[in-house]
Amino acid sequence: MNAPKFIVDHNVGKLAKWLRVMGYDAQFFNGADDADLVAMALAEGRVILTRDTRIVKRRVVTNGRLKAILIQSDAPEQQMRQVIDMLNLDCRFRPFALCLECNQPLQERSKEQVKDLVPPYVFQTQNQYVECPNCRRIYWRGTHWQAMTRRLEKFRKG
Ligand SMILES: [Zn+2]
Repeated sequence: MNAPKFIVDHNVGKLAKWLRVMGYDAQFFNGADDADLVAMALAEGRVILTRDTRIVKRRVVTNGRLKAILIQSDAPEQQMRQVIDMLNLDCRFRPFALCLECNQPLQERSKEQVKDLVPPYVFQTQNQYVECPNCRRIYWRGTHWQAMTRRLEKFRKG
């Protein structure tokens, strides 16, 4: 079974970053027109996450052609819990696969390649690096990412 891909409406925008931490492709939508959101979701086979009841009442959703999840809570942690539970997502699906900022697939970099690009203490302690080809951000398996994954697992246990 293919992993779900998402399009995240601006009213639940924080979900995009959390989904990327897990490794799920999550495109952020900040356009004004619902029709554009729906068209992108259909074209790219993405599940819509939104708080907009008008979107989930559209015929294309009610007839099952397009999957859209109406997010219940205002709180990002509750929102994430709802999505993880409904779709049975894996919090450690593909760590370090996607840029948290722009959803681009990350590329592996050797220690030498990042020597002048990361803080010295990081260079001394970390061996595995990935880089976003779009924004050039460099990630490493440091404590920040681990802490985010642990938080996600806590959401899941409820
Ligand atoms: Zn990026």
